[in-house]
Amino acid sequence: MSDKRDYYEILGVDKTASDDEIKRAYRKLAMKYHPDRNADDKEAAEEKFKEAAEAYDVLSDSDKRARYDRFGHAAFSQGGGPQGARFTNIEDIFEAFGDVFGGGGGGGIFGDLFGGGRRQRSGPRPGRDLKIVLDLTLEEIDKGVDKVVSIKRQDLCGTCGGNGAKPGTSPVACSSCGGRGQVHRSQGFFTMATTCPHCRGTGKRIESPCEDCRGAGRTSSKSDVSIQVPAGVEEGMRIRVPSAGDAGEAGAPRGDLYVIVREKEHKVFQRSGPDLMTEIPCSFPQLALGDRVEVPTIRGRVEMSIPAGTQSGKVFRLRGQGLPVLEGRGQGDLLLRVFVETPRKLTDRQKEILTEFGEIEEEKSGSRSFFEKIVDYFS
Ligand SMILES: [Zn+2]
Ligand SMILES: [Zn+2]
Repeated sequence: MSDKRDYYEILGVDKTASDDEIKRAYRKLAMKYHPDRNADDKEAAEEKFKEAAEAYDVLSDSDKRARYDRFGHAAFSQGGGPQGARFTNIEDIFEAFGDVFGGGGGGGIFGDLFGGGRRQRSGPRPGRDLKIVLDLTLEEIDKGVDKVVSIKRQDLCGTCGGNGAKPGTSPVACSSCGGRGQVHRSQGFFTMATTCPHCRGTGKRIESPCEDCRGAGRTSSKSDVSIQVPAGVEEGMRIRVPSAGDAGEAGAPRGDLYVIVREKEHKVFQRSGPDLMTEIPCSFPQLALGDRVEVPTIRGRVEMSIPAGTQSGKVFRLRGQGLPVLEGRGQGDLLLRVFVETPRKLTDRQKEILTEFGEIEEEKSGSRSFFEKIVDYFS
């Protein structure tokens, strides 16, 4: 064991290095010595790669690091104590330290580096994530809402408890893989571990299957799931409900449920981010003389005054009468666009008054043509 290099030296860090420095140093070495990137000298690179992984395994674990600091390599060379990891195969290293490469979802640098050739995890598989679309009204979005939806999902079979074996019997170890769930095969310098094709990685074989789930361990059923929708969500947003997806194989976690928000069309309002918009039809006298009118908001009616001489098409802004911004970061406005609604049917009396009104307007504007009036209006 005396020929082993010092772990700190391997990673090129100080004895006082922080966890972060150790992680960074390891990540750098792993990239540098990854066998796929060192095709010309694969064997030497693989040795370096394993050496770095072993050093990282010890120094990234505070217990192991403390033992190593006190006893050196001797801390792991005797039987009994915790063993320093001896990685015999590259895939195990990826498996053990995948998170170092920033790939929470199995991607990131890790995925790029290793070309997606990761071994499937052995052991019971977690449940699938599910996705549903949830239609919400603007009123629901305004206040936030708790919804209960019925979804079809996989649950652990109640009869066999998920192991798939008929009650009173148990699954036995798979004979192809000896219960490990994996078989090894050699490929060039590597020993690749792959999922056992006979038990599909479970390591078990069921001799007498449970009658209710036919050995699957899971059954499909409708379940009610409650979803808390926060105020201010927008079309297309995704709400995650942890552990509300399909049940995993016995002993593995459930998947998650992803709820995609879809806005129902509103009769009165259109939405633009947190702002709401609508149009207010008015009569010509209301805009010409000014008036107080009742206007709709998402929370009921309010009064608004229209000043005399308001042009058709003007937009009024009612502050804070829009939708809340997600997570309590403010409130949108309500935009009201007033416009003149031209009457389609007039009584004789109305016609008389309007004709007279028109004649007076004509006199006021003198001999200017219609075209001149338009030019005036825009200047
Ligand atoms: Zn069952
Ligand atoms: Zn097997």
